[in-house]
Amino acid sequence: MKEVTCYICGNKRETNRKTGLECYICPDCKGNKEKQMNRIFTKDTVFLVCKWYGEGMSVKRIADVLKRSEENVHLALKKGGVI
Ligand SMILES: [Zn+2]
Repeated sequence: MKEVTCYICGNKRETNRKTGLECYICPDCKGNKEKQMNRIFTKDTVFLVCKWYGEGMSVKRIADVLKRSEENVHLALKKGGVI
């Protein structure tokens, strides 16, 4: 068994899968589009969102590019101290 982290919600669980562990999605998140649009931030998310916002990209456009909700992008901007 191997411990994997769901990249949508960040919950950890054990699996005996051997492939696809990098982008593991737990059963709770699988097929849940709303959860997927509001998934946890990777270390690059906040950086990219703040960078693009600083370059004049709109929140809606950033949300489209990252396939996240606009609220989620707002959160990233807050986390980055931009808004
Ligand atoms: Zn999950």
